[in-house]
Amino acid sequence: MAERGRLLVISGPSGTGKSTVIGVLMARKEGLEFSVSATTRAPRPGEKDGVDYYFVSRDRFNEMIENNELLEHAEFVGNCYGTPRSQVEARLEKGITVILDIEVQGAAQVKKAMPEAITVFLAPPSLEELERRLRGRGTDSDETIRRRLETARKELLLAPEYDHMVINNEPEQAAEEIRAILES
Ligand code: ADP
Ligand code: 5GP
Repeated sequence: MAERGRLLVISGPSGTGKSTVIGVLMARKEGLEFSVSATTRAPRPGEKDGVDYYFVSRDRFNEMIENNELLEHAEFVGNCYGTPRSQVEARLEKGITVILDIEVQGAAQVKKAMPEAITVFLAPPSLEELERRLRGRGTDSDETIRRRLETARKELLLAPEYDHMVINNEPEQAAEEIRAILES
């Protein structure tokens, strides 16, 4: 029987670079699979259903909660996000390492339910740089950016609760640090 895979939780403020760093990590390390979340957020240009997210209605999201289909879920800046159990459990059994890109409330729920999960807080070098990245990404309105930054100030206080903290100064370097955490 294959050794059980590991659950790697990457969390941290919106715009810190989680998707970017996970992209580098997956390109570089074999045997990692990304857990595709469900969300009620509208797709951004270029985002694909079933690849970036499962884009669902509020009704469908509530149904997933009621049916216990989600490992964790949270509301973030006006939208719901959750991890389908179907993305995680079967893969862990097959020995695959599963990566979650989730915000801090969800990360705490996962750690509670599965203490063996490895949690990494990906931090920006500064709040000023976080704002530059959110603006530079060009996907959110000024109001959404303001709310995401306001949320980030509170999220940063939670970094000490994680198993590891990595500062995303540069994506290749941050991915390398996370790879080293997985190897250790
Ligand atoms: P998150 O998934 O945490 O919301 P993204 O991966 O979408 O963040 O990154 C937000 C923006 O910052 C993107 O435009 C991305 O290209 C950029 N970015 C990511 N990492 C870095 C970095 N280390 N230095 C500069 N810009 C970065
Ligand atoms: P975005 O709208 O920028 O794609 O994501 C907003 C936030 O939601 C990010 O911090 C991201 O990590 C988080 N997120 C994405 N999927 C999930 C999920 O399944 N559960 C939780 N709790 N947060 C998620």
